[in-house]
Amino acid sequence: MSWEIMRTETAPCECGEGTETFTFEMDDWNRTQSSTEIHCPKCQQKKQREIEVEQAREKKRDELLQRAQQLTTERYLLQWLALFAGMTKKAAWERYTGGSGYPALGTFYLHVKHSGSLGKYMEWCLTNDLERSLGVLEVKDKEIDALLQERAQLWRPSSVPL
Ligand SMILES: [Zn+2]
Repeated sequence: MSWEIMRTETAPCECGEGTETFTFEMDDWNRTQSSTEIHCPKCQQKKQREIEVEQAREKKRDELLQRAQQLTTERYLLQWLALFAGMTKKAAWERYTGGSGYPALGTFYLHVKHSGSLGKYMEWCLTNDLERSLGVLEVKDKEIDALLQERAQLWRPSSVPL
């Protein structure tokens, strides 16, 4: 498996003091990829800064989510498991999804099977779809909401080229 360069293009860089070279490649499966090489110290530094900003943002998003998941588990896991305790899988699915949407009933059954038990799967659901689960619980937790909102605001599209 090898990539073959299809074409390269050189254009002025963003600040105009240097150039950028775009390289387009294709492999044996006709998949394409492109890359950019910046020949300008100023723009190279700017790109590096953008990458660092994005990495910091991603780290912050992860931290906020982990904190929200931790608080949710501490405060609501027992209540959450009690909600589904003794329910049939179908009843639990109806309660969790409202009877429609993701996951479909068959998928839900599969997830329960792979998790080992309904309780284990529901525990996973609680932290992996926090907003929905808190909605199902009819819980309004200002602290958790604030963490999730702060996280959502960090999803600004990045200006860093891929
Ligand atoms: Zn430049």
